[in-house]
Amino acid sequence: MATHEKVDVVIVGAGASGATYAAVLAKAGKKVVLLESGPDWQLSDLISSDIWGRRVKPAGAPFVLEGKNPYGYAYQAGWGVGGAALHYFANFPRLLPNDFKIKSEHNRALDWPISYQDVAPYYDKVADDLGVSGDAKAEEIWRPAGKPYPMPPMKTFRNGDIWLKGFEAAGIRMVPAAVGMNSTEYKGRPACIYDGWCHVGCPIGALANPVVTYLADAKKANAEVRARSTVTRVLTNPQGTKVTGVEYYDDKKERQTQEASVVILAAWSGQNPRLMLNSATDKHPKGLANGSGLLGKYMMAHFASGTWAMFDEDVQNHMGTTGAQYMSYERYGKTSHKGTFGSTFIVAGTGQKTSDLGGYANARLDLFGPDLAAFMKRAARGLTRIGAFGEEMPNIENRIELASDKDEFGMPLGKIVHSFDQDAVALWNANFEEGLKVAKATGAKEVWSGRGNMPTIHLFGGTIMGTEAGNSVTNSYGQTHEIGNLYVAGPGIFPTEGASNPTYTIFALSLRGAEHLVAQWGSVAG
Ligand SMILES: Cc1cc2nc3c(=O)[nH]c(=O)nc-3n(C[C@H](O)[C@H](O)[C@H](O)COP(=O)(O)OP(=O)(O)OC[C@H]3O[C@@H](n4cnc5c(N)ncnc54)[C@H](O)[C@@H]3O)c2cc1C
Ligand code: SF4
Repeated sequence: MATHEKVDVVIVGAGASGATYAAVLAKAGKKVVLLESGPDWQLSDLISSDIWGRRVKPAGAPFVLEGKNPYGYAYQAGWGVGGAALHYFANFPRLLPNDFKIKSEHNRALDWPISYQDVAPYYDKVADDLGVSGDAKAEEIWRPAGKPYPMPPMKTFRNGDIWLKGFEAAGIRMVPAAVGMNSTEYKGRPACIYDGWCHVGCPIGALANPVVTYLADAKKANAEVRARSTVTRVLTNPQGTKVTGVEYYDDKKERQTQEASVVILAAWSGQNPRLMLNSATDKHPKGLANGSGLLGKYMMAHFASGTWAMFDEDVQNHMGTTGAQYMSYERYGKTSHKGTFGSTFIVAGTGQKTSDLGGYANARLDLFGPDLAAFMKRAARGLTRIGAFGEEMPNIENRIELASDKDEFGMPLGKIVHSFDQDAVALWNANFEEGLKVAKATGAKEVWSGRGNMPTIHLFGGTIMGTEAGNSVTNSYGQTHEIGNLYVAGPGIFPTEGASNPTYTIFALSLRGAEHLVAQWGSVAG
């Protein structure tokens, strides 16, 4: 086993959250090492093909899955430098003020220890750093005012515009979607060409993926990225009061130690609790920073209700991005749909391929042979869809534990236990019903709900933030209550998930946590 020279900060995972911490800390003059279990992807590795695109999807240790709605990690987790944001759709809605105070306002779920106003300045900073396109004024009908986005909205196409009549009939206001994509050239990165290949990674860098944004900044400031390096344990001092570094296996599968003054776990909400549970010692017998017993608890997922419509006209469905053209918070109130509880976030307009999960391949699972061929012919010009993301409330039974099976490094696999409750199912159904109403009002030739198994999208919780060690694992900066120089970053620290796609908030919270760490460096690392 080799031991490397001690550094200021070791970051586990080079995805959205890890990259943000790396940029801020390296620019502040800290010696930063990022350890990333997957390959060192470059833009030139991103090839616009669904077959080639599979190479950038998860290939690490699997999870054991249990519960009524097993969590679909294979489509959600990241793998390699850039993480899942190497090939995300970059819808960038933010959480709204009502997300932070569900317990106070409805006596349900949990409150965040901070409010929307604490995060708002970081949404504005991230928009400037990464490049966000959208119309802030238009979306301010639902949220407090902030700065304008640095780029105007993206172009729209018939596959998005054709839905507006239906939404209007249902009383749902739609505004240009906020997306982490370039509608114009931005900071030396080109404007989008609307060919809809974002889901396998944008080869020209128009998508705000970490490789061309925060990681590039971090590397310029001398951060070191060690790819194919899988962390298995966080190391602590004998008293259990501080972390001292991490143990990992390098690209030759040899065991190494990296000592550091501060450890930041940014390996996604699925892996961070697994690592902390596996780092148990006699001083932390239930896993690191787990005095509350809440480590690995309150895992949450989004679900989505998709509605399809077939038109006779050419809706240009080959054009656009994989993200959305229009969005709406009109049903974002927690009690918007009668008899259900939770927010809904609505999107419309997306470029589609004939293959893969997000394309037409999923539109009519009941068709085979000649019927499928006839459908695909019509779909190639006339098919389009909308989507409504729904919010699941935190439930302590939804959790991550260590399984008895082990990975190639001898580390126990993570087991995710996940079931949706009745509120989630009712909200899922209400959004299908409303989707059909909207679709019918467009005058489409045929409309139908995209029902299958209830999907699990994004993953939150497991290391939730709160006011104290008794009710949470971290504070609002991601710093663990029990070990001051151990931080957790990413969607795992959200105590509730809202219905908005998470990554704009992940970037904002990581920026906030990293700036706080720099400001408190002497007391945290000393
Ligand atoms: C197809 C797809 C579309 C999406 N679209 C959107 C969207 O439109 N809008 C949105 O907001 N979000 C979207 N997301 C979600 C978004 O990509 C994630 O929320 C975000 O990337 C999570 O960032 P993270 O830093 O927490 O984790 P990740 O991006 O998963 O990064 C974690 C990294 O840690 C590495 N790692 C894991 N374990 C270890 C270990 N033991 N040692 C070392 N490294 C390790 C992983 O390989 C990975 O690279 C999408 C995701 C997918 C897959
Ligand atoms: S649609 Fe735009 S952002 Fe997506 S892959 Fe193409 S150029 Fe990149």
